[in-house]
Amino acid sequence: MKKILLSCLIGTALLTSPLSLLAKPGVTLFATGGTIAGKASSAKEATEYKAGELSVGQLVAAVPALNEVATISGVQIANVPSGDIDQQILLALTKKITDTLQRADQSGVVVTHGTDTLEETAFFLDLTVKSPKPVVVVGAMRPATAISADGPMNLLQAVTLASSDSARDRGVLVAFNDRIASGFYVSKTNANVTDTFKATEPGYLGSFVKGQPWFYYSPAQPSDKPFFDVSQKTSLPKVTILYAHQEQDPALLEAAVNAGAQGIVIAAAGNAAVPVRANAAIEKIMAKGVPVVLSTRTGNGYTSMRTDGSRHGIGSGIYNPQKARILLMLALAETRDMDKIRGYFDH
Ligand code: ASP
Repeated sequence: MKKILLSCLIGTALLTSPLSLLAKPGVTLFATGGTIAGKASSAKEATEYKAGELSVGQLVAAVPALNEVATISGVQIANVPSGDIDQQILLALTKKITDTLQRADQSGVVVTHGTDTLEETAFFLDLTVKSPKPVVVVGAMRPATAISADGPMNLLQAVTLASSDSARDRGVLVAFNDRIASGFYVSKTNANVTDTFKATEPGYLGSFVKGQPWFYYSPAQPSDKPFFDVSQKTSLPKVTILYAHQEQDPALLEAAVNAGAQGIVIAAAGNAAVPVRANAAIEKIMAKGVPVVLSTRTGNGYTSMRTDGSRHGIGSGIYNPQKARILLMLALAETRDMDKIRGYFDH
């Protein structure tokens, strides 16, 4: 009995020793560029600026409070506007994040990113990183030099989130404008304003209260989220997006294949609608083994195909065109079986 008591006391002493009280969580910050690292010629300027100017070291140095929350390590993956993020950057990012999260001294990681294609990277990482630890993607709508720049607070909240046990087992998260969203569902919904990131149908997962993450629900993952192991991949198949509209030219489908596309996503009107005369082109391309996925340009909703065969292609399900493109790239890297590819979307 004495022995048990003694070991309990030693255990408590160890847990509350000054050393363990001082130990801060480790967080690695992967910087890729974007407006959060952008500079303008004046503090009033919020639209004319150059993205991807500040280094990861400068981003961290600008927010001293980060060091109160975590022990930060910085890795510069790229320094580009997010329109220039490509599959080589995505593959490097997912491999480095996976390695980092395997380290016992790391609680989570943060990726700083341009907002324009942030949702694509967040979605890609959600499908390719397997870890209970948080991966938080963050950016800013105003450059670092602007009055009321949103980057520093977004970054502090992202690091706080990546350090937090409550953020575990939730997949990739996006911290933006005081809110926490699922990287799987979130989308940029406005070209200019700071509350641009929304997941209209599923909603937010939480927000920040008194500087700490506050989740509305206990940990959950999106239904039917697939996982793709890309650890051995050095490239991914090319997938192109075409936009549907009145008088859409079906010849562009063939042109995309001639330009090397191994898969095509159409941002169709409504629920997978394209002009009837586009069906023949879709059928021809699908017969060549090139999947054509029909998403919706509406921004929301589930895209299904008609069972009467009056439409061709693969319905994208819940995925918007840019997320459907990422999923199709990953699916094609794994299989060319049309039914299996259909299964990733249509469930
Ligand atoms: N052009 C920027 C980018 O996506 C926009 C931003 O970061 O808000 O890199």
